[in-house]
Amino acid sequence: MTSVMTKIGIPGAAGRMGRMLIREIAAAPGLELVAATDRAESEAIGQDSGLLAGTGTNGVLISDDPENLASADVLVDFTSPAASVAHANMASRHGCAMVVGTTGLSGDDESALAVAAKAIPLVYCANTSVGVTLLAKLVEQVAAQLVEGWDIEILESHHHHKVDAPSGTALVLGEAAARGRNVKLDEVSDMVRKGQTGARTPGDIGFAVLRGGDVTGEHSVIFFGDSERVEISHKATDRAIFARGALRAARFAAAAKAGFYDMNDVLAS
Ligand code: NAD
Repeated sequence: MTSVMTKIGIPGAAGRMGRMLIREIAAAPGLELVAATDRAESEAIGQDSGLLAGTGTNGVLISDDPENLASADVLVDFTSPAASVAHANMASRHGCAMVVGTTGLSGDDESALAVAAKAIPLVYCANTSVGVTLLAKLVEQVAAQLVEGWDIEILESHHHHKVDAPSGTALVLGEAAARGRNVKLDEVSDMVRKGQTGARTPGDIGFAVLRGGDVTGEHSVIFFGDSERVEISHKATDRAIFARGALRAARFAAAAKAGFYDMNDVLAS
């Protein structure tokens, strides 16, 4: 009996998520790591990606040549916005499927991913955990019910290395709340409060950001009513949940037709 392995390429293999993905691939049946890259300036170039990830030698050396990734069936990319767009262009040229978990992408970056997704299956999601995907659905439902007299605030906390704010997940939750209210997030979001701000505008969706220590990721969507409050929260305590979700998305992408997908498509499959 022959078993068909899905070949995975990891750009950003020296990063926090890259190393976690390599650990999870080593334990995942049916998945095989075939390529690992990082930035040319990275000290990890030339090192064994398994050793770096703590799983023991796997023979896949970290390269600075993105074209090495072309041998993979699926690229799982948690890097930076510019790198993810470049990798998506490369993946569409070579016919590799792709999962993008990078956050902080601009509208133009997202459009570039959508163009690549005309040629390849591409799953893009700012939070690949099962819990947050379900949380966003709940937030949409609650926001549709709690309208008049209810204020929505989104609070997020992350480790001190995080470079973008509010987090991609906070924005996903804000989009879900805005969908529930049938409004556009960019018309109602309030992300900066300082000095004489005036009273809160009814209908706004506010964001608050905490950064510190080693917090993996915590999000609360708070609906403030008159004399009552509804809070829906998610706390991630181990980055492995994002890696496992991303690999579930990779299995989905390996079998999907060309198109632009998110984690809802993955969980529904
Ligand atoms: P990190 O800084 O530890 O790792 C990023 C890695 O990408 C680094 O090793 C960096 O050198 C590498 N890189 C940058 N440009 C590259 C290029 N052109 N080619 C190859 N490698 C390149 O960051 P991290 O904590 O691993 O997070 C990475 C991204 O994933 C961030 O945007 C973060 O917000 C996001 N993230 C998403 C989820 C999710 O569930 N979707 C979860 C955690 C983190």
